[in-house]
Amino acid sequence: MSQESLQIAAQNLKKAVPLMLKHRIPTTPTNYALWYAYVDEQLPELNQHLDTLVAQYNTCPPINSELLYRQYIADSVELDVREMRQNLDAMVCELSQSLKDTQADTTQFQSRFEHNLAKLNRIEDEGVTIEQVLDLVRNLVKESDHIRANTVFFSEQLQRAQTEIDALKHKLQQTEKDVLYDALTGCLNRRAFDDDFSGVLSQAPEGCCIILADIDHFKVFNDSYGHQLGDQVLRAVAKRLQEFCREGCKLYRFGGEEFVIIIPKSQLRIARQLAESMRRGIEKLTLKDRKSDKRVDHISASFGVAQWQAKQTSIQLIEQADKLLYEAKRLGRNRVMPING
Ligand code: GH3
Ligand code: MG
Ligand code: MG
Repeated sequence: MSQESLQIAAQNLKKAVPLMLKHRIPTTPTNYALWYAYVDEQLPELNQHLDTLVAQYNTCPPINSELLYRQYIADSVELDVREMRQNLDAMVCELSQSLKDTQADTTQFQSRFEHNLAKLNRIEDEGVTIEQVLDLVRNLVKESDHIRANTVFFSEQLQRAQTEIDALKHKLQQTEKDVLYDALTGCLNRRAFDDDFSGVLSQAPEGCCIILADIDHFKVFNDSYGHQLGDQVLRAVAKRLQEFCREGCKLYRFGGEEFVIIIPKSQLRIARQLAESMRRGIEKLTLKDRKSDKRVDHISASFGVAQWQAKQTSIQLIEQADKLLYEAKRLGRNRVMPING
């Protein structure tokens, strides 16, 4: 996010919050997103919709907020995750209700059983008839049958729910993974980078270095061999870069044909050396174009390496690396900047 768009974001939030207070809107993430979009004025239909609701109800009822959020804002992956979470919650609720029912049944049975047992114990003292004894026994059998059927039903239900929960968990993990990984190269994506980077900088920024890498003249691969070969180059470069990422450093696709590596608690010299190894690794890459059967071997990338300095924000650190990357391009590409670290 550029400095300018950050400023706009801050201004919008400042406008959104008083509006939410005025219309008594609960401060949930969904509502923040909604009212942020409202003051951002990029979605005129959303604004019209919200205006009508507020005119009618003097607020925006939660159900309408949810619907508006779905209609105008949420992307489908996010919705999938939310839906699955809700399903899991519903299932847990249902199970705990069943558990309570079964427990209540069992407690009831226990007290009746004790009651009947006490009656049996009194037989000798009070001289009950054999008919009455049989009645008691019949009662006990009937009730224990009932409780057994209930327990079997509950354990079946538990089994079914367990299977369903396992499947949902698996799907949820998969979807969460989709949110953080880039589909083409399989490496972590920009979203994961933003999360991890702000995490590192807020917790232990000292020594943190980043490497920005940009494939040289990448457009040429697309233009001369087609987009598919371009994709193949991207995958090969990502794989090669990944091979160099050990001991806590992580690779992300930053966008297009750019990658970024976070190296926590390091030194500029070490990060620079790592970038240099990566550069040489990429230089050696060769691919075969499936269509023309030609060998493609002039792949290279340029690198900008920067280390966190006191009080620097994530944006400033990225800008610093980006400047150095630009410098590497200007000086002829296939190189690492700064020259010394
Ligand atoms: P430079 O050396 O200055 O970096 O030149 P360049 O050609 O690498 O840079 P430029 O920004 O001009 O072009 C980048 C191209 O990358 C443009 C875009 O179409 C292409 N691109 C971005 N994402 C993908 C992708 O996922 N697959 C393919 N095949 N191409 C992509
Ligand atoms: Mg680029
Ligand atoms: Mg490029």
